[in-house]
Amino acid sequence: MAYISNDVINEIRNKTDIVDVVSKYVNLTKKGKNYIGVCPFHDDHSPSMSVSPEKQIFTCFSCGATGNVFTFVADFEKISFVEAVRLLGEKVGVSTQGNSFAVEKKDDYFEIYELANKFYQNSLFTSLGKNAIEYLEGRNIDKETIKKFGIGLSIQKVSLTDYLVNKKYSVDKLNEVGLTNDNGNDIFINRIMFPIYDLSGNPVAFSGRIYNTKDTSKYVNTKETDKFKKGKILYNYHIAKEHLKKNDTIIIMEGQMDVIRASTIGINNCIATMGTALTKDHRNILKNMANNIILCFDGDAAGEKATISAIELLEDTGINIKVVRLPNGMDPDEYIIKEGKESFLYQIESASNLIDYKMELLKKNKDFGNIKDISSYINSVISELVNEKDDIVIELNLKKIATSFNVNYDTLLDKYNDLKKKNKTVTKEVKPRKVYDKYGQAENNLIYYMLKDSKVINMVEKRVGYFPTKNIRQLSNEIIYYFHKYGIISVADFISYISDKEELLRTLKDILAMNIKEEFQIEEIEDYIFVINEYHKEVKINDLNKKLREEKDPLKQAKLSEEIMKIRGVKK
Ligand SMILES: [Zn+2]
Repeated sequence: MAYISNDVINEIRNKTDIVDVVSKYVNLTKKGKNYIGVCPFHDDHSPSMSVSPEKQIFTCFSCGATGNVFTFVADFEKISFVEAVRLLGEKVGVSTQGNSFAVEKKDDYFEIYELANKFYQNSLFTSLGKNAIEYLEGRNIDKETIKKFGIGLSIQKVSLTDYLVNKKYSVDKLNEVGLTNDNGNDIFINRIMFPIYDLSGNPVAFSGRIYNTKDTSKYVNTKETDKFKKGKILYNYHIAKEHLKKNDTIIIMEGQMDVIRASTIGINNCIATMGTALTKDHRNILKNMANNIILCFDGDAAGEKATISAIELLEDTGINIKVVRLPNGMDPDEYIIKEGKESFLYQIESASNLIDYKMELLKKNKDFGNIKDISSYINSVISELVNEKDDIVIELNLKKIATSFNVNYDTLLDKYNDLKKKNKTVTKEVKPRKVYDKYGQAENNLIYYMLKDSKVINMVEKRVGYFPTKNIRQLSNEIIYYFHKYGIISVADFISYISDKEELLRTLKDILAMNIKEEFQIEEIEDYIFVINEYHKEVKINDLNKKLREEKDPLKQAKLSEEIMKIRGVKK
């Protein structure tokens, strides 16, 4: 197993702020001392997750997910703890190499892509890039936009593979990461190169577009790799995320050119799915990104299909969804070129509400001269309204149908109410909390406060003989050991320290998610210690009582009674 020393792990954690890192994935709002956001680890509809800048931990009081910055990244990205440490270490410039007795090789992926990205960008501005620049400027992509999106150029005469081999990367590695083909040649030749960034803003793939020939496919993308999975990446996420701080709406488009074009007219809160259907991973990313989404896919039939499936996927996330359908099958790029900025802004501002869009959609292929079609239309509209939360929207729409089709409003309302009753959604069950007796509670509280204040560690060490529960006992021993070794206690670092002890970590997470109050009095600690020590007395007394019941000899009976009273502290 990979190994990184605790000193290095703690150094990386010290240089990293959990609020910065978590807010790359989740929208956070300041609330008192902490930040709150929608929990990405359960189907959360209201912000249940709290991030503490002071303690450098996060906690979801609904599903119990909790940990430090490393466990957050590990759980979110579905990578190991050690990988999360590496990833964050790279960001703050702390090497985890040389430190590692790891069998696994160092992953050069990000380094290679960083170099390739710079290489292509430089090529664009050489004399060999003249035609490509002209082509881009002809399409109204100016130098500023080129720089902003890191657009570059692959040229046949200048081999990226040779360049990277000179930098000591093997051809096999370049083939593995999708830059070199099986014959050892560049995959991208004579294409305008659009880097694709992962959620953290690292280039992980390219999309190469032809510009001076007509004989090959318009776009070639890097093959899927372990770092580039279309279903988990949204084009322009890292830039759009920054702009969301001002504007809580994200616009989803299909292609990267749509996003780049929108940026040229000052719309920066756009992301693109790069031609794939939205996935559940996308859904989780979006859920944590913004409260409002505008779907602005291509105006053609395929775009409509994509819109409908995106709605199905996003509908129950609690995100407010609006839809733009561009006319004449145009995509946003074409529309902005042809119709201009003002017209596109108008399309965005007048985006349809979900229910209006659906009602329009339901009209398709219906003949309103036909009573059967009318009735089927009304029924499907009512089924849709059942999912609507806004009472005013429901009432207005029912009235609208009543008027348009000359149907009694009350009949529609009855029908709606019937359906609503049937559909009553079962509220999601939240994991029931374990119930602890007074001993369990004392144990949990002591562990919690030991991690908060070294005074408590000293008291426990001196006065608690032995915690009744095995995991608590081990946890307490680890805390004491940690404190003696480092001379300081920090819950965030202690989490790293026990990260490979799965059972202990789970016990600790349970305790952190209990919402135990922050402040404590020394008398409370005395009480908990008293309760724990009482436990052992109780166990002994129970044991003696059992013996007493079985004992026939009066003399021995008297002896046992005396012993019990002695433990109880009662003098004869
Ligand atoms: Zn949660």
